[in-house]
Amino acid sequence: MKIDVLALFPEIVAPALKTGILKRVQDTAKLTVNLHNLRDWATDKHKSVDDYPYGGGAGMILKPEPIFAAVATLNPRETAHIIYLTPQGIPLTQGLAESLSLETHLILLCGRYKGVDERVRDKLVTTEISIGDYVLSGGEIAALVLIDAVGRVLPGALGDYESAHVDSFSQDLLDHPHYTRPAEFAGMHVPEVLLSGHHENIEKWRYAEALKRTAKHRPDLLQKLELSEEDIAILKAAGLVEPTK
Ligand code: SAM
Repeated sequence: MKIDVLALFPEIVAPALKTGILKRVQDTAKLTVNLHNLRDWATDKHKSVDDYPYGGGAGMILKPEPIFAAVATLNPRETAHIIYLTPQGIPLTQGLAESLSLETHLILLCGRYKGVDERVRDKLVTTEISIGDYVLSGGEIAALVLIDAVGRVLPGALGDYESAHVDSFSQDLLDHPHYTRPAEFAGMHVPEVLLSGHHENIEKWRYAEALKRTAKHRPDLLQKLELSEEDIAILKAAGLVEPTK
């Protein structure tokens, strides 16, 4: 997969690409990330990429010409996704990250100030993605979030794919609790079942804990699932659903 990032401050993204899973996935050539500064496509001597809004009001708008020129240089095929990071976009979810990980070329456009000229969105952008219901000062951090979420689920990115497969949201459930040594710390004990070596019971415990945690913190996720009678019994026993009369 190739990801091109178009931004006014690409240096925000650069350091995070040099560590951990994102570095490894690039080292193994499964992912190439190219960072581009939009100013390189500015045409005036001041290298300006923004201008005042028509109609007045506060804030600057990113001009269309440098963005159209930058995208043209990247020569995207029909299959490329030209993604504008914006709080007005569809929410970035684990499912969306997984489906984007199957693509071959993403161009990530990072806005600044009040955003980009609307003609960029009308004619160039194929997908608009938000990383949450809040407003950041620029799209660079949002692009980095997307690159990380997509990069870590590329086939072979994680040493043990299982560990992504059971992470929060992969099964519409939050992840279960985790413990490591020591078995007792400051009077707090690791649940007995995890020390038992009984894999079936451990899996059942983990599933029940994930279910309860999801019901407690993200009940909206549970609405997507068809709960079995056993699931409902687990939640009732934990006082997380009203017992039916
Ligand atoms: N005026 C815009 C609006 O209300 O939709 C917000 C502009 S914001 C100050 C500047 C840039 O940050 C946006 O163009 C976008 O690229 C990025 N941005 C801000 N919040 C974001 C979010 N939640 N998700 C993705 N990108 C975001």
